[in-house]
Amino acid sequence: MADVAFSCACGTLQGVVRDAAPAKCCHLICYCSDCRAFARHMGQLDALEPGGGSPLVQVLPAQVDITQGADQIACLRLSPKGLNRWYAACCNTPLANTPSTSKIPFAGMWRPLFETHAPFGKVTTFGFTKMARPGGARKDKGLARMLGGILKRTLSAYLNGTARQNPFFDATGAPVSPPHVISAEDRTAAYRE
Ligand SMILES: [Zn+2]
Ligand SMILES: [Zn+2]
Repeated sequence: MADVAFSCACGTLQGVVRDAAPAKCCHLICYCSDCRAFARHMGQLDALEPGGGSPLVQVLPAQVDITQGADQIACLRLSPKGLNRWYAACCNTPLANTPSTSKIPFAGMWRPLFETHAPFGKVTTFGFTKMARPGGARKDKGLARMLGGILKRTLSAYLNGTARQNPFFDATGAPVSPPHVISAEDRTAAYRE
């Protein structure tokens, strides 16, 4: 297992994912239009995989430490009930998506943040391939394994008392930066393909 450093594009925000290992994460490409809209909104289309897939690594939030620039953490939602989509405000680099509550210990980290992603192992999962653009994966893969992994990690986090350790939420469960819902105009632009 390894500690994998990450950084926003400008280097103001830095952190590390501890104990990275293929068995402790899910390395996936998500082709859903929401993840792609987030990437487009953040000006990150170039970082997507062919077919408009978002490269993500799902880990437990307790594995994630922000070591510098935590005051740059910001959060948006594409719709009022959407996922929390965290980013570094200094340079608009995506950080992670999480549920809206820290009771569900889950973070889908934006893979381009990492200096290397080898410790996470190969991509095991393709999600929402029906929404892929031309050139993307054609068939979903690994979703059962992904869900099983999420369940297993969630349970273990609750059993070992780390479920509420989360760089995106404080000890009371409040987001470290309040999510803002993007405007209708921005939303239309983000989803325009
Ligand atoms: Zn930055
Ligand atoms: Zn997605």
